[in-house]
Amino acid sequence: MELGSDPRLVVVINSQLRQPNSYKKARVKLMEISPGVKMLYLDYQGAIVHPILVWDEDMAILIDTGFPGQFEELRAEIEKAGVSFDQLRGVILTHQDVDHIGSLPEILQERGNAVTVCAHELDQPYIQGKRPLLKDGQLENPPKGRVDMTLMDGQEMPWCGGIQVIHTPGHTPGHISLYLKNSKLLVAGDSMYSINGVIQGIHPPTTPDMEAARLSLHKYKELDLQSVVCYHGGLSHAHVHDQIVKLCEE
Ligand SMILES: [Zn+2]
Repeated sequence: MELGSDPRLVVVINSQLRQPNSYKKARVKLMEISPGVKMLYLDYQGAIVHPILVWDEDMAILIDTGFPGQFEELRAEIEKAGVSFDQLRGVILTHQDVDHIGSLPEILQERGNAVTVCAHELDQPYIQGKRPLLKDGQLENPPKGRVDMTLMDGQEMPWCGGIQVIHTPGHTPGHISLYLKNSKLLVAGDSMYSINGVIQGIHPPTTPDMEAARLSLHKYKELDLQSVVCYHGGLSHAHVHDQIVKLCEE
């Protein structure tokens, strides 16, 4: 896919959040959040995104996959964490947007049926290419791939100590967030964004259903949280529960 030549994608990238230069300078690549959980770091023309890698002795699970064209970078990040790409057994997609499903085709090409791809059923047809992507429908050759397992609100996958699914619509209808029980980490996807560790809440320009998005945030209040990763903005770990409660009151 020739991304640089696609004006629509440039619009998408430009609409994504850019971190201040101080963030880039202070960045810690492959930030280890707790044993077996790392926040990856992918830079696409200044748009920085953070897939999450979770692993134990049995398997590795990747949450979101970066922009199209970032597969080699993604693989390198995974291997730098000391995890062989061959250990990858699951991919969880928080939602259908192109910066989250970008490397899905290459992952499927490399890992075939050894990997289980999961997403919410409301975003599944878009990821599979049966419907044009809601926000990137004009892309000539959008990334797509099979979804093997649809996930529901409240469902808990037994992988890597337990991964709980929270359906958090708003940014897309099938947006999900993940709660990693061992590390008490909330992987918030694009339900919220952050800057320099401070959670900023919903990102209105990329959130078609603000009402649903606001209701989704309330689901986080029940969680016993140690830290939060926003796909755009990265890790927050200071008083994250209080930050979320405050955002819910706004
Ligand atoms: Zn995104």
